[in-house]
Amino acid sequence: MIIRIDTHVHKQCIDITEKVRAVVRESGVASGVCHVMVLHATAALIVNENDDPEIGVDLLDALDRSIPDHAGWRHDRVDNNAQAHIKASILGPSESLPVVEGELLLGTWQGIMLVELDGPRSGRRVKVTVIGES
Ligand code: ZN
Repeated sequence: MIIRIDTHVHKQCIDITEKVRAVVRESGVASGVCHVMVLHATAALIVNENDDPEIGVDLLDALDRSIPDHAGWRHDRVDNNAQAHIKASILGPSESLPVVEGELLLGTWQGIMLVELDGPRSGRRVKVTVIGES
């Protein structure tokens, strides 16, 4: 199953937990693993808190301090988004989560977030694969 997510600004964290939970429930898998992967080179997937959405903003600020836009990156000569590729590489494109009793298992303060690093974009694709016993 592929989830499509529209992003609205240049850089943002978007909580996709409920969309992934729905795919897990529809899969009928009771016990197994849910793998989620963003199918783009300038976005990432993370597991962290979104109860306070400022955490996502802080993450983006911290990344900007370490990896500023247009800091002489070679790839900027191609399509001007080197910072997004570097940050996406560091954060990573995928996560694997346990499925227990038919539900995604996350800690109280954990959610799954798509990290947009070169938006806004329409229809960012996230592949969700649920493997296990029904
Ligand atoms: Zn590029």
